[in-house]
Amino acid sequence: MHEFKYVNSQLYCEKVRIEDLAKKFGTPLYVYSYHTLIGHFIKLEKAFAKIKPLICYSVKANSNIAILKALVDKGAGLDIVSGGELFRALRAGCPPEKIVYASVGKTEKEIEEAIRRGILFFNIESISELELINKISCRLGEKSRVAIRINPDVEPKTHHYITTGKLTNKFGIDFDTARIIFLAQNDFPHLDICGVHIHIGSQITESAPFIAAIKKVVNFIAELRKKGIALKYLNIGGGLGIIYDKETPQTAEEFSKKILPLLKNTGLKIIMEPGRFIAGNSGILVTKVLFVKKTPLKRFIIIDAGMNDLIRPSLYGAYHEILPLRTTNHEPRTTNRYDIVGPICESGDFLAKDREMPKVREGDYLAIMSAGAYGFSMSSNYNSRCRAEEVLVVKDRVFAIRKRESCRDLVRNESIPPFLLGL
Ligand SMILES: *Cc1c(COP(=O)(O)O)cnc(C)c1O
Repeated sequence: MHEFKYVNSQLYCEKVRIEDLAKKFGTPLYVYSYHTLIGHFIKLEKAFAKIKPLICYSVKANSNIAILKALVDKGAGLDIVSGGELFRALRAGCPPEKIVYASVGKTEKEIEEAIRRGILFFNIESISELELINKISCRLGEKSRVAIRINPDVEPKTHHYITTGKLTNKFGIDFDTARIIFLAQNDFPHLDICGVHIHIGSQITESAPFIAAIKKVVNFIAELRKKGIALKYLNIGGGLGIIYDKETPQTAEEFSKKILPLLKNTGLKIIMEPGRFIAGNSGILVTKVLFVKKTPLKRFIIIDAGMNDLIRPSLYGAYHEILPLRTTNHEPRTTNRYDIVGPICESGDFLAKDREMPKVREGDYLAIMSAGAYGFSMSSNYNSRCRAEEVLVVKDRVFAIRKRESCRDLVRNESIPPFLLGL
């Protein structure tokens, strides 16, 4: 479900013609649909209404503070993975008691700041981290809530770069070690070890891996209970897949039907951390065709967006649908296969390979679909390219939510040492 649709052969976002946005704001341009974003959050909330989970949107999927604020206003909490994301979460007005913090590499400074701000809990990924948080909490005279991130060793059947719940991944703690931690709770007097957490990967389109992981962890919770260890929170992470191409991911309803009974039986407060499910189909990347180039072996469409704007195709071989902003229904529809590539000096700089496309002319605009998650948030300045503008569409209203960067922004934090200036 999303609000990007053709009306009279022209692509719209909600009530706004996207070509008008491209002309007004320039390209490359990220365009987000407010109602798609909020719609996905509400869908998940409704599907799980019976247990009222705390839905902590995963900030790293799309970290723009306007996006965060829109979700926080609807009752979302936030899942963060760095001090920078904590700053964004607070800037967006998220109540600290709705923030959960995961990461295998939290620094002392980040931990201290999160404790001072009073977040809901840390998701702990190693014994060393547990000891460090205990030490810092002691120094600050606090007792910190933590959940143990379990690595349940399940195969989520997704790209190996976005698998996080196998024992060969760096994430989480195996069951045996987790058991030892829970039994040794008294060694950590400044911690309240009050939950367990799993997050097994991303873009998972089947429910079987989720169910397998949740079953394992539910059994573990029951085992702890028998030993007299009572928990408060079960954090089931994120990872729900979306449609990029021909995937048929489970819907929120189907997902909930399968796992709700398991979750309810635990009697624990459930936390969820969806990122892509909420933001993925809420955004597109609009780009202009600079050149159409034919070589003896191939045809290329060269666009003004590159891997620095959207790295998913280069990084994961990810598929994004690419649509023209205008469909030319009147001309005979000839199609050809093209590589759709950016301007960056890397052969890995492509947005699509061997993609069948209708006739495209230089100066035409294209929409790279489903770019709302892990799009702008993974963008960079490589090749000294200024990062794109982001706009949010709410029915017929348009708001710039991040200005296009300028060349000044590129060198803002750089300086030439005096000796090079002859001083
Ligand atoms: C990235 C991440 C998520 C969100 O993953 P999605 O696939 O975008 O839903 C949730 N929890 C943790 C701990 C993460 O690292």
